[in-house]
Amino acid sequence: MKALIAANLKMNLNSRQTIALVKNYIKLIRKPKNDVVVCASFTAIPEISKSVKKSKLVLGAQDIFYEQKGAYTGEISALMLKEYGCKYAIIGHSERRQYLKETDELVNLKLKGALRVGMTPILCIGEDAYFRDSGESFAFVEKQLKACITGIDKKQIIKVAIAYEPIWAISTTKDRRDITTRDITQMHNFIRKLLKDAYDLRTASKVRILYGGSVNEQNISEILKAENVNGMLVGAASLDARKFAKVVKAFEQ
Ligand code: PEP
Repeated sequence: MKALIAANLKMNLNSRQTIALVKNYIKLIRKPKNDVVVCASFTAIPEISKSVKKSKLVLGAQDIFYEQKGAYTGEISALMLKEYGCKYAIIGHSERRQYLKETDELVNLKLKGALRVGMTPILCIGEDAYFRDSGESFAFVEKQLKACITGIDKKQIIKVAIAYEPIWAISTTKDRRDITTRDITQMHNFIRKLLKDAYDLRTASKVRILYGGSVNEQNISEILKAENVNGMLVGAASLDARKFAKVVKAFEQ
């Protein structure tokens, strides 16, 4: 299985800045052995679409709406993004859950909306510090994952990438904390087991489980010692092409 390394640029760059960053990505990441995805802001997607298409990188979005067309003011569908070559979309990021009150039910609809048109969803799950500290992180992730993948069958789930992103380890979280390799192994093994129980061993083994939370060029080799890590979702470090390229390269060692 190819690993998936995705850059989540968040709402950090305008179009011009995104073009410059992607140019540097393309220079530094020429022949990746894994899938490398740039999840840019909607406004920058048309701008970078052509250059990404000519490169070995793949284009992604940071969100989608669950319907493809209709009276949904302000929303953008997976189908509309496909027009620009978007093949991936981040769905259910904790920042959207926090600031836009996205629920597991809405995330589930978006997941289905992406799959319906052949877009690969990167489903984000993960507990906050409260659940981690109260020893309920596994129960939280189980409930969240089950709710998000309700009604998704075996054929569909293997097309989903699941990103475990504990909110307390994300770089911009106030009072963020370092995660250990052991923490990652435990949660990723747990997610794999949940998938095995929900589907079967063969199906579960085909789902890519990514880690996200302050991944950078310095901690990547340590994080890669964890089990069941099939890729990364990279936020802050992806804003620096050299740092992101180093994370991508670390997967090829
Ligand atoms: C994220 O929020 O998706 C993320 C991975 O952020 P960071 O790498 O900055 O912690």
